[in-house]
Amino acid sequence: MMLREFQIQRIYQGSLDKGADILEGLLGVMKQHQISAGIISGIGAVSEARLAYYNSETRIYEEQVFPEPLEIVSLKGNISIKDNAAFPHLHAVLSRRDFTPFGGHLLPKTYVFAFEFEIIPFTGEPFVRGFDEATGLFLWKQ
Ligand code: ZN
Repeated sequence: MMLREFQIQRIYQGSLDKGADILEGLLGVMKQHQISAGIISGIGAVSEARLAYYNSETRIYEEQVFPEPLEIVSLKGNISIKDNAAFPHLHAVLSRRDFTPFGGHLLPKTYVFAFEFEIIPFTGEPFVRGFDEATGLFLWKQ
């Protein structure tokens, strides 16, 4: 178990332009404001999405591209350190025109149609990701 207390001093709220890569856009805000711990949330729509599902048996991220307009019902994530850099870990629930939802681990090359987000930076010692033998994932280790 990992548990740490943080403080909140500010909240950023913003939007990304149509055509932007969601992950790159959020990473840009994180870099600009030197955010290495915190939480991210967002809603909106995408023109194309790329998600992954972590197969715990094969220990491989199975990636899938969804080249269609989708609603972002909910995007949620956290910020910590991986490979000596701030790293956003994002998951999203998306839905189709018939309102069926699906979701997964959000990958680069997911493109904004419209996107509104919040980033809440934490003040304190950020968690640092490291390889976890038990799961094959890069989890918080320090
Ligand atoms: Zn994930």
